Amino acid sequence: MDSGDLVIDVAGLHKSFGKFGALNGLDLQVERGQVHGFLGPNGAGKSTTIRVLLGLLSADSGRVRLLGGDPWRDVVELHRRLAYVPGDVSLWPSMTGGEAIDLLGSLRGGIDEARRADLVERFELDPTKRGRQYSKGNRQKVAIVAALASDVELLILDEPTSGLDPLMENVFQEVVGEAVARGTTVLLSSHIMAEVEILADRLSIIRDGVIVETGTLSELRGHMRTTVRAELATVHDIDRVAVLHEVHLDGNHLTATVDTDRIGEAMEALTACGLRSLTVTPPSLESLFLRLYEQDDETETTR
Ligand code: ADP
Ligand code: MG
Repeated sequence: MDSGDLVIDVAGLHKSFGKFGALNGLDLQVERGQVHGFLGPNGAGKSTTIRVLLGLLSADSGRVRLLGGDPWRDVVELHRRLAYVPGDVSLWPSMTGGEAIDLLGSLRGGIDEARRADLVERFELDPTKRGRQYSKGNRQKVAIVAALASDVELLILDEPTSGLDPLMENVFQEVVGEAVARGTTVLLSSHIMAEVEILADRLSIIRDGVIVETGTLSELRGHMRTTVRAELATVHDIDRVAVLHEVHLDGNHLTATVDTDRIGEAMEALTACGLRSLTVTPPSLESLFLRLYEQDDETETTR
């Protein structure tokens, strides 16, 4: 791949706080025009990575390129070309929401006024209130409107919808989709699978400061096991079929799991046993994600 197409290019990133290694050799690549889901449980290192990308935190070691530049050295230039929404927006207490949107926009080289008006309406935001009067959800809306009304190449969104109600989540999904249609690249961090599943072209899953899985949604699904339920004429040698895992038998009814990329082999083996009925349940990404959470819990209890 032409490295010029990489909007974010991180390799071997390390960052410690005292003795604690928050990032332990993290790799992350985001291509131009892509929505990249950055997923992981709380404390995995998402915000630390993003703070390094924003030039708010210096890395201990590793390579970090953002929009072809160095986020630490080229901070002024890069911040004209990107917009950032944190998960806990703080606003200037006596400035109105509208003024905050304009101020944030001016730092980024301007706002599209028509889009600003449209976003304010769709998010049902009252821009005349002062910062101190906004609820958490409304502060998020101010930052989201400011980011999406700006003409930028890259959106860095760190759990941006925390505190938004489900209706506004939907609006958020729509407006990010529109930004992508305009050619904007998006890094979207979340600890909730369902939130990124709709938008993301690719996903990177982070745990304990390293990427444990990366790929498209279908590639990640391919790493998961599909559940197969079948009724067979004979179950005699069924436990010798190597592609079947977690085999359970109830009379002639079989339940088993199969690596998703070996479904074909499993079907051949089952057909040879006289297949009478079959249900195949593809893996959900939620289950992949939960498995990673479970591993997290296990390491927690063995510490
Ligand atoms: P995430 O955003 O994925 O929830 P963070 O990047 O915020 O995770 O945090 C990763 C780990 O680093 C956590 O264990 C957190 O407590 C720790 N951490 C983050 N920032 C600091 C800091 N400034 N000082 C000490 N520890 C920190
Ligand atoms: Mg975070």
